[in-house]
Amino acid sequence: MAEETIFSKIIRKEIPADVVYQDDLVTAFRDINPRAPSHVLIIPNKLIPTTNDVEAEDELVMGRLFTVAKKIAIEEGIAEDGYRLIVNCNPHGGQEVYHIHMHLVGGRPLGPMLLS
Ligand code: 5GP
Repeated sequence: MAEETIFSKIIRKEIPADVVYQDDLVTAFRDINPRAPSHVLIIPNKLIPTTNDVEAEDELVMGRLFTVAKKIAIEEGIAEDGYRLIVNCNPHGGQEVYHIHMHLVGGRPLGPMLLS
């Protein structure tokens, strides 16, 4: 059984967060340490620790991350200029919180994709 993170508490509204969207499958809230004018985290309500733990039964919720990202990008006014969606996995991927999250980052030119 995976260990809950602070994100489960945000989903259940047990700790404050700037939640911009929530439905039966996913929750989206502003990153506490934004790296760009728009920086929103979109997460499954179900605890899936990393992309290594995604199963076929999770395909609906994982797809929902993308449709909600698109909706929020439009609301943030960044859809046309563009943005970046990032999912980090494990230490080499730079993952800090072990509850899958999609970063939606935009609002300025983001430069080349980081590979180092
Ligand atoms: P990771 O490095 O795991 O891909 O990203 C974790 C992200 O979660 C970081 O960008 C960090 O700023 C954000 N974060 C960590 N704790 C909290 C929190 O309690 N509230 C919010 N809103 N964001 C958090």
